[in-house]
Amino acid sequence: MDEKLHIGTLCVQAGYHPGKGESRQIPIIQSTTFKYDTSDQMGRLFDLEDSGYFYTRLQNPTNDTVAARIAALEGGVAAMLTSSGQAANFFACVNICEAGGHIVAAGNIYGGTFNLLGTSLKKLGIDVTFIDQTAPEEEIRAAFRPETKLLFGETISNPGVEVLDIEKFAGIAHDHGVPLIVDNTFATPIHCRPFEWGADIVTHSTTKYMDGHGVAVGGAIVDSGNFDWDAHADKFPGLTTPDPSYHGLTYTKKFGKLAYITKATSQLMRDFGSIQSPQNAFYLGLGLQTLHVRLERHTQNALKVAEFLNIHPAVAWVRYPDLPGDPENERAKKYLPDGSCGVLAFALKGGREVDNRFMDSLKLVTIETHVADCYTCILHPASHTHRQLTDEQLREAGIAPDLMRLSVGLEDPRDIIADLERSINEALK
Ligand SMILES: *Cc1c(COP(=O)(O)O)cnc(C)c1O
Repeated sequence: MDEKLHIGTLCVQAGYHPGKGESRQIPIIQSTTFKYDTSDQMGRLFDLEDSGYFYTRLQNPTNDTVAARIAALEGGVAAMLTSSGQAANFFACVNICEAGGHIVAAGNIYGGTFNLLGTSLKKLGIDVTFIDQTAPEEEIRAAFRPETKLLFGETISNPGVEVLDIEKFAGIAHDHGVPLIVDNTFATPIHCRPFEWGADIVTHSTTKYMDGHGVAVGGAIVDSGNFDWDAHADKFPGLTTPDPSYHGLTYTKKFGKLAYITKATSQLMRDFGSIQSPQNAFYLGLGLQTLHVRLERHTQNALKVAEFLNIHPAVAWVRYPDLPGDPENERAKKYLPDGSCGVLAFALKGGREVDNRFMDSLKLVTIETHVADCYTCILHPASHTHRQLTDEQLREAGIAPDLMRLSVGLEDPRDIIADLERSINEALK
């Protein structure tokens, strides 16, 4: 019933359709476990013969309801919630890539994901090649190996706000018999639905716009159901050959289009246990109900701020995909026709020292290791999240040493701009 509805309606209602006398808002099922009448009923659940709840580490009704809403928004067949965006990207990769496997990923991705792939997965025996997402197609293709299992990128990169050419990336991935995984955290399904451009799996840090109020860390994985695992069975034995930890069932045979998410839930969540608490899932469900309204305003506010900075004589440069003349503007018009998001990057003339004086003068805008919630906040990666890197290493990660990431919130844009303007003047004194 959700399929024919517009995205704003899906935000409010998808995934939850209460019956007579049931709660209007999604109920929080704050319970670790669930009751059964016979030993056989319980046994069948453990064999994946029946579906049902038995332990919240594997599945919980509140989480499933909110996951179903996210799946509807993205146009996927199924979704699962995770404890954080990091857990979502970790599971999304290791669900199909084991020791000996290889990943090709855009080099401009979020620092946490860069470390996850480049450091922690490497320690688990998974090799990664980072590529420049704007490099010529032959160069990107050359990064693939026989053991490559997936291609990874972000719709809008954090913090550089670069727009991924999803259609091109999907084509390259599919030519190599692997799925494209896209982290859609910044765009959200309100502004881009990567499955419509050929992506196969989408991930989210729901901590950002989906929650939107800075209350709950969380993540999500969504499957389009479109990737044909059996057509590349030798590459994905975890999905296409019997799982001894479930009495030899084969996920693609038993679950069809739900194979990928079912394996992630029944195997990875069972063993690694990174669930989102039902309470946090409830907050996320609330956040989703206003996502379409909030993201529109975030984007309008960010464009006003970007326009202000763009003509300010003390500003060295501004990057915002919706700004005419921005290097990403053409791709943004294709993939983000209703606007990008509330995040932009900029620098003041005079380098780090002026940047720091400017940040110290801000009153309304706060210094925070966060983005994409209702508060306007700022971060200087070279001084904060990436302070262990040299300028050279920063440039390699696609981050200019003077880059400040500004996440424009939902305050009145006149007040945000006034605070920026006053602080720029202070910094120049
Ligand atoms: C924040 C973020 C993550 C990590 O999410 P957490 O919820 O903080 O674990 C992953 N990808 C992107 C693009 C992010 O902005």
